[in-house]
Amino acid sequence: MTHHDQDIPTVARRFMRYVAIDTQSQEEATTYPSTEKQKDLGRLLVSELKEIGLTDAEMDEWGYVFATLPGNVDKAVPTIGLISHVDTAPAVTGKDVKPVLHRNYQGGALTLPADPSAVIDPTESPALKNCMGHDIITSDGSTLLGADDKAGVAEIMTAVEYLIAHPELKHGRVRIAFTCDEEIGRGTEHFDIEKFGAKFAYTIDGETAGEIENETFCADGATVVFKGINVHPGYAKNKLVSAIKAASFFVRSLPPDFAPETTEGRQGYLHPVSISGTEELGTVKLIVRDFEEDGLHRLEDVLRDLAERTKKEFPGSDAQVTIEEQYRNMRMKLDEAPQVVEYAMEAVKRAGAKPGLSSIRGGTDGSKLTQMGLPTPNVFTGGHNFHARTEWISIQDMELGVKTLVELVQVWSEKS
Ligand SMILES: [Zn+2]
Repeated sequence: MTHHDQDIPTVARRFMRYVAIDTQSQEEATTYPSTEKQKDLGRLLVSELKEIGLTDAEMDEWGYVFATLPGNVDKAVPTIGLISHVDTAPAVTGKDVKPVLHRNYQGGALTLPADPSAVIDPTESPALKNCMGHDIITSDGSTLLGADDKAGVAEIMTAVEYLIAHPELKHGRVRIAFTCDEEIGRGTEHFDIEKFGAKFAYTIDGETAGEIENETFCADGATVVFKGINVHPGYAKNKLVSAIKAASFFVRSLPPDFAPETTEGRQGYLHPVSISGTEELGTVKLIVRDFEEDGLHRLEDVLRDLAERTKKEFPGSDAQVTIEEQYRNMRMKLDEAPQVVEYAMEAVKRAGAKPGLSSIRGGTDGSKLTQMGLPTPNVFTGGHNFHARTEWISIQDMELGVKTLVELVQVWSEKS
């Protein structure tokens, strides 16, 4: 940092401190958290929370950080949870992140200093057009930035600090949680929902300023196992049935219109994620995604039909489809407690932004928490181009994020 640190808002200064700590999670790990280094940020957060005045701040054996902001009203207000994840995506390195501040953005493309091919262009990243005059933070182009989700962490920390400094702002009890391993789908694996003790919660892990995400995919995993008949290839005529070829036929026959590369918006898809096998045994793993459970089941029927077709195409072979539930669209459960999303929209408005509802073509920690009984929609952070070297965030949008959280806990208190 070669800038005058004192003109940089607290939330951005925090953010830049957090992104410098490598917290990348790792897909193949069998430990929890998947990487020990995630606890490095956890430990820093515990000490900063204590400094701010949240005396019960602690990190548990799994690396989850918990803390309480006590309420300052006499009436009964439900405990609200604020949650962000500390890990960054396995796809792009998060080691030695050097945040770059582009002050007073005036349009055009941003080229990142360490890699001339890393360009953030408003034609590809249209949200940049709404950030004229903003101060934008990017990486230097050699790493991701880590706005996903250290922006959420910095915004929660700053909001809590602000609320403590302003006791005239009335709110109920607020529980804070920072989780690990969200990016590898294991963010809630050891999350102690009872100990967390919130009635309703929000993940601060979204993108465009003002947006509240109340829908995620419904998600299943499918495993299709093909059995062939193995015979010495020299004497195999009319006897050998290759499971490798059956599995390949199956994958090749997947409907091209229901693939991640051909769908967007509210369309679902079937997506093979691994294939392995020998002549005797072939295994194809797929993920199945749709916003509605019906749609999910229709896609699974397509898999079963295709498995039958494969058996006919390879007489003597066998094919078995097993489906495993992963997570469900949070909207169904959120509809049962509509105030959770309504109050967030109200808070966005009070913070001075335009609220909007959107859906995520994926899942969040909130999808699983909602399913476990803790309604948890997703609130924007202001970050964009997640999981890429061209990830960026506007400082002004981060400040809007902080303001939204400060308003949100007050809306809950006011309306309870
Ligand atoms: Zn995230």
